[in-house]
Amino acid sequence: MLTSRTKNLYQELILEHNKKPRNYRVPETSSHQAKGHNPLCGDKLDVYLSVDEESSTISDVSFIGDGCAISKASASIMTTMVKGKSVEEAQSLFKMFHDMTTGKETDVTEDQIPSRLRVFAGVKDLPARVKCATLAWHTLDAALQGEEKISTE
Ligand code: ZN
Repeated sequence: MLTSRTKNLYQELILEHNKKPRNYRVPETSSHQAKGHNPLCGDKLDVYLSVDEESSTISDVSFIGDGCAISKASASIMTTMVKGKSVEEAQSLFKMFHDMTTGKETDVTEDQIPSRLRVFAGVKDLPARVKCATLAWHTLDAALQGEEKISTE
């Protein structure tokens, strides 16, 4: 259960990232990129990655796009989470985030989930918002799989 104080802090973080998204730019070069679209809400994101082949590390990640506060804040937070991580770590964060926002029962306890991701735990009770929150992560995953675009529909 979230206390209302925690809930407010989470909402503030979402608003703050929406207002000042991190890593919001088109890079000069990238090794992977994908377009994500959530037609239900109208969110559109382009995610760019630079993956170092040898170490399989995400050396750079950025995004641009237009959408609701949740989709933009989630993209901003996603970039701060996966930058410098290995592709494998990024994929396991995606899985953790996806399971949490869709309310899937897992062995992962709440305190094992990074606090920046827990900000979005509340969307599992708002089915229409789940796609907003997960769009950036689906787009990241598509880019890593070499797909050019994904739609949440
Ligand atoms: Zn949205």
